[in-house]
Amino acid sequence: MDLTSDTPAPPLLRKACCVCGSDSSPRVATLPGTRTQRDFALRYCAGCGFAWVENPWTDFATVYDEAYYLGKGSDPLVNYVDELTNPHTIRRLEWRGILQWADDTRAALAGNRGNPGAPLRWLDFGCGNGGLVRHVQSAGADRWEIDGFEEGWAAGFGRQNGIGILTREELDAKRGTYDLVTAIEVLEHTVDPHETLREIRAMLRPGGRFLFTTGNLAPYTSNIPAWGYVRPEIHVSYYEPRSLARLLSETGFEPLPAAYAPGHTSIIAYKVLKNLRLNTLSYWMHLVPWPVLSRILNAKMGIFAHPTAVAK
Ligand SMILES: [Zn+2]
Repeated sequence: MDLTSDTPAPPLLRKACCVCGSDSSPRVATLPGTRTQRDFALRYCAGCGFAWVENPWTDFATVYDEAYYLGKGSDPLVNYVDELTNPHTIRRLEWRGILQWADDTRAALAGNRGNPGAPLRWLDFGCGNGGLVRHVQSAGADRWEIDGFEEGWAAGFGRQNGIGILTREELDAKRGTYDLVTAIEVLEHTVDPHETLREIRAMLRPGGRFLFTTGNLAPYTSNIPAWGYVRPEIHVSYYEPRSLARLLSETGFEPLPAAYAPGHTSIIAYKVLKNLRLNTLSYWMHLVPWPVLSRILNAKMGIFAHPTAVAK
């Protein structure tokens, strides 16, 4: 590489399927960006169940700038700054649900670690400004030691708010030490799923667990552009459960069958309210029969149909 050149790197073009390598997957749509003047081509591999943006926007410092985290960027449904500073946003439902889901894995994790009383080590990979990290440090401190990892503007904002977010160097020093890694709405942002999953696997000890959320493409394959989750400037990789099972198997994990776990009700409640753009927790929200409604939505949309995984 010529480091003295000012010529920008050529744009990334992903013509072949990132999961199975097939180069015969058709373009299914061309979609305009909302912040850029560019069009984005979407391809779908029916062979393995994966869709992706062929020409992703890779100027990550611009994609994930302050405007993005304020909900003025490519995803108007997020406002990470408000969520961190305002104690009454619906995001708390998600944090609570993720902690419950993590707690549900504790018995298995503590058992195979041989020291059931000690707090377990948890990494939130792609933690944004660290809202979940802070929640677990306050509500789960007796049983979890949690770190977050993030880069860019969000990491700086989290640190300004007193949340310890690991740098890349600090993360590298902790490889192989975690019992649990979470990646909440991370995998849809990655342009190289194998690389990201290998990186996550490297952070876990053998027998450690990996829990994640990302959209499930399966119910939408006949009309992918109509899926509200498709935001080609930021969501560049879309998975069916079978493509994730394959990716996990190829990156050092044993995929585990999907199951409706404690905490999923609360996470789905958060997703519903977010999509209704109801940002502030209100009393009536406790009157909604979430346990029933969440299971119905989960059955219809496969929200938690993706596998989880154990590090081999
Ligand atoms: Zn494929």
